[in-house]
Amino acid sequence: MKFETIKKVILAAILLPFVFMLIEGVVVIRTSLTQYRNLEKDRQFADVLARGGSIAATEILSEIGATRRYLAHPSSRNAIDMQRSRATLDNERRAFYASLPSREAFDEGLVDELSALGLAYSRIVAARSAVDQGRYAGGDPGAIYWYAALKQLAVVDALSPLINDPVLLEKSNQLMGIMLTYYGERLITGIGTRYLERGPSARFPVELLVQGKVMIGEGMDHMVFHSAAPIVRDIVGYLGRSSQVKANAITDAILAGSRPTRAIRDVWATAQNERMSFLQQKMIEAARDIHDTGENFSTRSHLHLTRILALCAGLLILATLVMVLAARGLRLIDRLTQDREALVAELRNAAQTDLLTGLYNRRGFEVAASALLTQAEHGSRWISVVLFDLDHFKKINDVNGHDAGDAVLRHVAGIARQNFRSFDLLVRHGGEEFLALLPDSIPADAAIVAERVRLAIEMAEIPLPSGDLLKVTASFGCAGRANDGASRSFEDLVKRADLALYAAKASGRNCVVSGPVVPAPPQEERRKTASGGGFDSRL
Ligand code: GH3
Ligand code: MG
Ligand code: MG
Repeated sequence: MKFETIKKVILAAILLPFVFMLIEGVVVIRTSLTQYRNLEKDRQFADVLARGGSIAATEILSEIGATRRYLAHPSSRNAIDMQRSRATLDNERRAFYASLPSREAFDEGLVDELSALGLAYSRIVAARSAVDQGRYAGGDPGAIYWYAALKQLAVVDALSPLINDPVLLEKSNQLMGIMLTYYGERLITGIGTRYLERGPSARFPVELLVQGKVMIGEGMDHMVFHSAAPIVRDIVGYLGRSSQVKANAITDAILAGSRPTRAIRDVWATAQNERMSFLQQKMIEAARDIHDTGENFSTRSHLHLTRILALCAGLLILATLVMVLAARGLRLIDRLTQDREALVAELRNAAQTDLLTGLYNRRGFEVAASALLTQAEHGSRWISVVLFDLDHFKKINDVNGHDAGDAVLRHVAGIARQNFRSFDLLVRHGGEEFLALLPDSIPADAAIVAERVRLAIEMAEIPLPSGDLLKVTASFGCAGRANDGASRSFEDLVKRADLALYAAKASGRNCVVSGPVVPAPPQEERRKTASGGGFDSRL
């Protein structure tokens, strides 16, 4: 398999599972984020509901009570109580508005109810200054507070459609149901009491009574859906008590126009007041329960947030790890590629190099010479070869041993490398025979270089493994031709150089003989003219 393909396979093996994990991670994060947002929204709604419920169940009623007590007995103590109840209501109102979610989350109905609530509160503020200025002497501002409480109910009711969590929605319905029942009962008790107090001539305010009945009916409707809820079961159980059933019968009798005796009236008033205290208590409980639900949402949303953050951190770590792994994988592949290339180059080199002398072997020489001849076609006009052979080398081996012969060969190769030109190609052509290819050289130049090498060999004192020094000589044959580019082969040149070398050997060795600058004679002829007759010079 190609390294590029391996690279792709490794990258795919690392990155594909990572991409899947990444997608899965993003999906989980998105889901968690949605859950977190919903929880946060519901937590806010729970806050608003709990505060709205608490205002309707406690603070408004406290201020009505305190204001009534002050109007009945304007003592400084009652004034202080009234001021305190006002401050508490104002604080709760501010907290209520502060806990409202951003306006974009509201529908039109809720916005309307909120502005009506704002108006109701401004009427309370106006009533307060009227009370302070004594304009309420003998009157009762209860209706104004009552209206604000109703608007507070309406806001709680309008919030319901925005709630996601079914449990919170149920609790909000329960709260709404209890509040409606409470305020309905309060209306009926109030007008009933006043009607009975005014004497037989008083007109019965049927509309208000009907309104109260409607509110109670609506409240019970809200609660009937949650009859299994403990708080609703408590209320239903309480309203089923004999004293409460009796009070209902008395209410119906009053509605029908009868005027009960004082004793029955007292029984009725006691039962009604007890009922209102009970319902008020339940309103407070329901509001607190919603508040606790909100706290629970808050804990859960924090948990989700932690989970999201942990997931993000996990993904980040995973991404970093994968990147590191991928980078390492790529680096490893690159190193393997380099190692392989180096190995291939080394092998190629080994295949083309003579191990003993470090010069080209024949195979390497052919490759290099072919490249050189191709270059020469475009540049040089002449090409020459020098063939040289150590004299009486067999005897060197015989006398000094094969190892000494090897040392001589290595040394002579070194001398050749130093004395031929850097761009000449050197090859160990046979046992103790060397060949040099000299590009861009006429035979005369080749002969000069050959003579230089011959002298260097002759002068050298070659150290043998035994420690002795040995002097050797070599015979040289040179040949050259014009480089016309027609032939890339240099066989002809080698043949002619071989003939020249033969002549050098024949003429006593340790000399350079240049071959003729003409095509070599056929083989048969060569043997005949080996005595040197065909050569034009001897250096
Ligand atoms: P001449 O002057 O005519 O060339 O005589 P020569 O003895 O050099 O020629 P010959 O062809 O008779 O002998 C060459 C010897 O070179 C024979 C062979 O044992 C030896 N030889 C060839 N290759 C190696 C080698 O790698 N190492 C060693 N030590 N000897 C080698
Ligand atoms: Mg020889
Ligand atoms: Mg030889």
